[in-house]
Formats: sequence, structure tokens, C-alpha cells
Amino acid sequence: MSMNLLEECRGAKRIGISGHIRPDGDCIGACMGLYLYLKKEIPQADVQVFLEKPADIYGCISGIGDVDSAYGEQEPFDVFFALDTSDDRLGEAQPYFEKAGKRINIDHHISNAGGCGEKNFVDPHASSTSELIYRLIGKEGTDREIAEALYMGMAHDTGCFQYSCTSPDTLRAAAELISYGFDFSRLIQETFYEKTYLQTQILGRALLESIRFMDGRCVVSVLSRKTLDFYGAGPQDLEGIVSQLRSVKDVECAIFMYETRVQEYKVSLRSTEKVDVAAIASYFGGGGHVRAAGCTMLGTAYDVINNLSLHIERQLDGADGEKD
Ligand code: AMP
Ligand code: MN
Ligand code: MN
Repeated sequence: MSMNLLEECRGAKRIGISGHIRPDGDCIGACMGLYLYLKKEIPQADVQVFLEKPADIYGCISGIGDVDSAYGEQEPFDVFFALDTSDDRLGEAQPYFEKAGKRINIDHHISNAGGCGEKNFVDPHASSTSELIYRLIGKEGTDREIAEALYMGMAHDTGCFQYSCTSPDTLRAAAELISYGFDFSRLIQETFYEKTYLQTQILGRALLESIRFMDGRCVVSVLSRKTLDFYGAGPQDLEGIVSQLRSVKDVECAIFMYETRVQEYKVSLRSTEKVDVAAIASYFGGGGHVRAAGCTMLGTAYDVINNLSLHIERQLDGADGEKD
């Protein structure tokens, strides 16, 4: 499976790029890497990138100021790229994708294995969409700014090259990317590790109020609308909480959820070894990866936890059963 990006864009005058709602580091890195590449290689085309407003930490990524978060009326694009997502999470960019002359999907979510474009480059074994973009543009197409964006995306989706989605190919790509000479230590410190005081406070609150169940094999933490409002916290302040919960010894599955509106929760799931959280999130209308997935669920927090734990328990019992 491969794809020639320049061939796909041949003759295109208007090219659009977008990623998923609540964009994370990989989504932003992949979109910006592709944006910088297409602008460089096809200077005669009008290339635009649409994303919900990126968090301030991504201010160091070249071209980030060009991101359009207003989603105004647009003539149909000749080519539109959906990155790091299927079409149902494109948010306000969804109409651009639907009306485009050619729809291209580049992604690594197992829940989107079939792809949602006319042309698809989906590899669920890839660490990140940024790694896939690098695979497509190669060393020849990359420059220092592109390298920085793609390295950032790869680092974010691999937990700084620690999660099991990290492969020899990921590290080879990362090795090539750092040869462009950007300050990767600072990039990762500033976009991945550094937290605002507010983020630290809300993380502390979530950890403090977490509850273990199923003999400590599961841990859950819930933040209500009221608590979020008290701290003035938004979705971007909550990243990383669920990974902290997963780090608890003996935890197989961590759940972090926050109230988006009355009786509606955004749920993040992480697993260590046994639980396929992509299957659970997909069952509830979301998706993701085997070890990291998400969905939105309705009901009280107790309903949501009960519904999730049924699936987790079933999988854990199955896994334990197989071993015996
Ligand atoms: P999160 O818990 O939101 O950090 O998401 C974990 C992983 O699952 C990320 O790769 C997300 O892109 C993906 N994901 C989260 N929510 C959904 C959803 N509703 N549908 C499909 N994938 C999702
Ligand atoms: Mn993502
Ligand atoms: Mn990703």
C-alpha cells in the first residue's frame, strides 16, 4: 500500500487539510507537516488547513498561525485530506470533505481500518498519522520545519516513544527527523511534559478522587461540569490524566471521563495488556486504538461506569480464562 501525494494533487488548485475535533499533538503535527510540504512542493496551489483552535503549546510549530479555525464558507476543494480521523469526527470541516472533488484519508486508527476517502492510506500498525505522513513524503520531501511538526506528532502519540505502538520503523523515522537539527528536547518538554498550574491542579484533583474497582484492575476518575467550571478547565487541560491513571500498579484498564453537558460524558480509555479498549469504545459509538480509545456516552456517571465495566470484565474474564 502506498500513495503518491503529489500525483494525487496533480492539477489541483484548491487543497484542504483537516483532522479530528479536539486536535491532539499527532493530529496537529500531521496536518502541519502535510500543509508545509504541499505549500513547498505545489506553490501555485491554494493550500489551507482547518482545525479547532490549537492549544498555545503548539505555537512553536511552523505555520500554526495559518490554521483556519473559523470554518467560513468555501468553494469546493479539488482535494481534501482528512488526517488522523474518520469523517465523522471532522467537526466543522466535514462539509469541506464531503463536497471535495477528491477525498483522501490518512489515518492509523484501527476503528477506521477501511478508510473514509476515495483514496485511503490507513495503517493501524503505525504509531501515528505523523509517521504515515513521513512515510509518504520521505527524507527528500522533508525540511527542518516539517521534521519538527512530524517528530512532535510521533512523540505525542507514542508517549515519547514508550507505548507499544512504537516500532523499529517509528524509531528509524524519528532518528532521521532529528537529523534536521531542531531542538527536540525543548520541543518535547514544552509540548508534552510542561503543564500549566491549572492543568496540574486538575490532574491532582482527578487523581485524588479516582476510585479503583474490580480488585484494583480498573480505575476511574470523573470530573463534573461543576468541577471543571470551578477551575476554569477546558478539554485541552485534561490531556494526560488518563495516562497517569493507567500508571497505577496492577491496573489493566483506566477510565477518565468528564461531563460535556447534562448526562453526557467524554470518555477516555487506556489499557495495559489485556483489554482491547478500541472494541469497547467502538461498541459505544467511538473508536481509537487497542490500548487507547475514546467515546461519548449518555447517562449518569454511574450508568456510564456500569456499562463500561461490563465490557471490561467480560474481556478480562475471557483473557484469564484462556490462560487457565
Ligand atoms: P482520547 O481518549 O480522546 O485521548 O482518545 C484516545 C484515542 O482514541 C485517540 O487516538 C483518539 O483519536 C481516539 N478517539 C477518541 N474518541 C474517539 C471517537 N469518538 N471516535 C473515534 N476515535 C476516538
Ligand atoms: Mn489524534
Ligand atoms: Mn493519532
